[in-house]
Amino acid sequence: MKALAVDRAEVTAFVALGANLGHAAQALRDALTALGDTPGVRLVQASRLYRTAPVQSTGPDYVNAVAEVSTTLTAPALLDALQAIEDGAGRQRPYRNAPRTLDLDLLLYGSARIDSPRLTVPHPRMAQRAFVLVPLAEIARALVSAGQLAAVADQTIEKI
Ligand code: ADP
Ligand code: MG
Repeated sequence: MKALAVDRAEVTAFVALGANLGHAAQALRDALTALGDTPGVRLVQASRLYRTAPVQSTGPDYVNAVAEVSTTLTAPALLDALQAIEDGAGRQRPYRNAPRTLDLDLLLYGSARIDSPRLTVPHPRMAQRAFVLVPLAEIARALVSAGQLAAVADQTIEKI
């Protein structure tokens, strides 16, 4: 019998990128390249880079962006890929919310709602963060409401 090659359908997912140590802007550009080079992940578009003051964190200003990908990976496999890219950028985790060379968070995975020990999607804190909502609205305006943007309007964020 002929083996059936089962192709998984592509899912649209959104990834938040952030860094505030070392060459943060270059770290984000390299991460976007690494994301697009990941088997099973296609980079559809990326927002501009933004500079933001640390929120619940310390150290220098952050550089943030959001990317849209189309992927055949499952959500946990996509998280594995994101963490491998973080590790490749020398990410260390000395304590919670520590300054970081690279942080990649899975914001949305299609319309999935996931609540497992290592993965919560939609990302639980995305609605409180201008550094997520503003770049997300730039590339996917329909996913962010005017009310959500108004609620984070007090947070300083500027295009680089
Ligand atoms: P944070 O991004 O909250 O500042 P980390 O990047 O160190 O902190 O992530 C801590 C843990 O959060 C990861 O080990 C991962 O298992 C978990 N996690 C849960 N949901 C998500 C998500 N949607 N995206 C990325 N990580 C997540
Ligand atoms: Mg993270």
